Amino acid sequence: MLKKLLLIAIILQMGIQGFAQDTYLNAEAKDIEKTYLGGETYKVKMFPQKFKSEKPKNIIFLIGDGMGVSQVFAGLTANKGHLFLENCKYIGFSKTQSSDNYITDSAAGGTALSAGVRTYNGAIGVDPDNNPVKTILEDAEENGLATGLVSTSAITHATPASYIAHQPSRNMYEEIAADFLKTDIDVFIGGGTQHFTERKDGRNLLNELKEKGYRVESDLNKIKNIKTGKLAALTADVHNGRINERKSMLPVATKTAINILSNNKKGFFLMVEGSQIDWGGHAASTIYVVEDMLDFDKTIGKALEFAAKDGETLVVVSADHETGGMAITGGSFETGVVNAGFPTGGHTAVMVPVFSYGPGAEKFIGIMENTDIHAKMKKLLLDN
Ligand code: MG
Ligand code: ZN
Repeated sequence: MLKKLLLIAIILQMGIQGFAQDTYLNAEAKDIEKTYLGGETYKVKMFPQKFKSEKPKNIIFLIGDGMGVSQVFAGLTANKGHLFLENCKYIGFSKTQSSDNYITDSAAGGTALSAGVRTYNGAIGVDPDNNPVKTILEDAEENGLATGLVSTSAITHATPASYIAHQPSRNMYEEIAADFLKTDIDVFIGGGTQHFTERKDGRNLLNELKEKGYRVESDLNKIKNIKTGKLAALTADVHNGRINERKSMLPVATKTAINILSNNKKGFFLMVEGSQIDWGGHAASTIYVVEDMLDFDKTIGKALEFAAKDGETLVVVSADHETGGMAITGGSFETGVVNAGFPTGGHTAVMVPVFSYGPGAEKFIGIMENTDIHAKMKKLLLDN
């Protein structure tokens, strides 16, 4: 009984603390797991810092949703002192404020990164007056480059949606899904089947995608072997599960997307999102944060491995905002134990790190606006 009351109190408190933007989350108090007890670690490889060109032909942008410095350091501690991220020798910080709020949500944060425009919380690819703003993915497509999106959440969720859709609200999932059909994106892999098939307008967008020449798949074992063509891969009804359920979905999907996109001789733009670092912060769960941080870092490793071999690929890793105000209060590099507290169930205002590797990486240093990340990428990738 006491436990039940405590649960209700916690959930109520989270509601008050600005949980409203993320009502899609199931903030079960059982996820309040403050201590990561250590677990499997992986070996981090260091890649050469020599590149073929001064400007990148390809950009892989990896967004850790809700990933602040503490989330990175929690992962670094859990993996006993090292992350693939350490390959990124150029480091900066990004200011995350939205046009109407000191604390951004992932829609405004995503739109700043995708289109270089500060907008209101909840906005997907539109400015404060609701005019559509062109994203780097759309610009890349217009210039003949290949484009892709990969996410552990629904592909219609705020972060990936900001790259391809233009809607006044992040909650318009069906409208966002329909926006995918208006583009020529080459590859997308994530959850969200339901937004393509169970629709108020009765359309079956998966059939429409097939008619447009996409291969539509849901089985990761099939997806991972696809090397060419256009791919629409929806691996969950809505969001992919936590790591125990989705396993290596994110690194495998990222590798697959790179394989397909790198066929384009002109280059490519790929955005990859580690969505659930944010959800770990909302749930005040150190375990959830660490699991997803490590999964995200392994995915970064896949991107770096390709970039090191290719020599013309810029890899940038950043976040839309920090979540939870995560504070690491204890830990050990020997055991991988991490202890943390979370003063809020919502997002925070703090700057987030920007890590980069490859040609052009040196541009992403110092304190920058989140919108600058878009400007720098666009200049490097598309200005000839
Ligand atoms: Mg997100
Ligand atoms: Zn969030």
